[in-house]
Amino acid sequence: MALAMEHQAAGRLEEAAALYEGIVAEDPRQVNARHNLGMTRLHRGEFAGAVRALEIAWAQDGANPGWQQSLPMIGLTLFDRLHWEDAQPWLARAAVAGCGEPRIYAALERISPRDYLEPEVFDARLGRTLLRYAPRESPTYVYAIDVAGTCNLKCPTCPVGNSPIGSRAKGFMEVDLFRRIVEKIVADGAAARPEIFLFNWGEPLLHPKLGEILGLIHAAGMPSHLSTNLNVDRGLREMAKANPTNLKISISGFTPQAYERTHAGGNLALVKSNLYRVRHELDKAGATTRVWVGHHLYRNNVHQQEDVAAVCRELGFEHHPIVAFFQPLERLIEVAEGRGAPHPILDELLDHPRDYVPRLRDGRREGMDCELRFNQTAINFDGTVALCCSVYEEANMLGANFLEHSHEDLQARKYAHPFCETCMKAGVQYSPARLP
Ligand code: SF4
Ligand code: SF4
Repeated sequence: MALAMEHQAAGRLEEAAALYEGIVAEDPRQVNARHNLGMTRLHRGEFAGAVRALEIAWAQDGANPGWQQSLPMIGLTLFDRLHWEDAQPWLARAAVAGCGEPRIYAALERISPRDYLEPEVFDARLGRTLLRYAPRESPTYVYAIDVAGTCNLKCPTCPVGNSPIGSRAKGFMEVDLFRRIVEKIVADGAAARPEIFLFNWGEPLLHPKLGEILGLIHAAGMPSHLSTNLNVDRGLREMAKANPTNLKISISGFTPQAYERTHAGGNLALVKSNLYRVRHELDKAGATTRVWVGHHLYRNNVHQQEDVAAVCRELGFEHHPIVAFFQPLERLIEVAEGRGAPHPILDELLDHPRDYVPRLRDGRREGMDCELRFNQTAINFDGTVALCCSVYEEANMLGANFLEHSHEDLQARKYAHPFCETCMKAGVQYSPARLP
């Protein structure tokens, strides 16, 4: 035991875990060894094994005051890795034990069931009941409105770059249509204060009246969320004056060679200068916008994370590295199943769809609904509604105009659509994963 603890304290987790396993195999009543085994596995990312060991230790010795230290660590580690259903009992135990860490209460609130959602739904196409859960993308209902149904770039992992030209209508949403959509969102009351994303497959900063659009959202008391590639030479001042709630800036690499391959048609010098310009304009406008940079990781830029992080620190932006993936769903499923022409960008991905899609499918929690249909409505620039924000083809639109159909009718159309069944069988829906 002493040697195991020495290994653990020195960060030699594999050696420590092997010794703890030996101790509990010899004597299952050795609760300290079992607890330490669980914590060691937790730090190694072996969450399923960690929770198994920790649950037994908790059942054997839950009254031990030593848990005061472990409970927040277990709950918050699982929470940070988005294993919210598994984090819940540990966070609740930490709260009951009065661990006094404010993040515990915030995490418990974030993972609690949303009052506007039915806890489960019967999926007639699958012939089974699916459970809902606290959505990961936003704490409230989301409307993804593609105000600029077009983009100035052609990223090869995005349908704008990898689907045939002309396969989808393009254009800007009229401000009057947007106003009527906001009025209907408020009247529908899907949630008390839904969040409005102003993007899907388009670049919102191209919209000539973005400031007006943001103003309409905020006047209705709703938070706004922009996502931009920042390849623009106008509109930043108007955007900053309108004080968007959230602004995501997508970057893939920090050298022109890396960036311009994966953000095809983009100009890194313009993006870099605009990062500073965004900071300047937000400060000048006194905006309170949360800005985060999504660094899309490919093989050719994975080593540039610190370069991007350093600029983010300088400018007060959050930095979130994200492993790049291939879209839209229609093409992803084709590639994962070995159909369709291979695209050269697939070799640049850190994880190829033919590897990660089966892993996703096999690693899903059983019987969970897809967040993109129970918690999100995707509206195209012309007011028509898509099955979800991840599909692109005409066949996967709902054949309905947002203004002409009730929220309930649009939801019913989603659940009747055959593509969700295809998507779920392939395993690429948006639902929680089991503990690894
Ligand atoms: S910038 Fe965004 S919307 Fe435009 S092509 Fe790239 S991924 Fe698609
Ligand atoms: S199951 Fe697939 S197609 Fe259906 S809403 Fe979810 S992600 Fe979209």
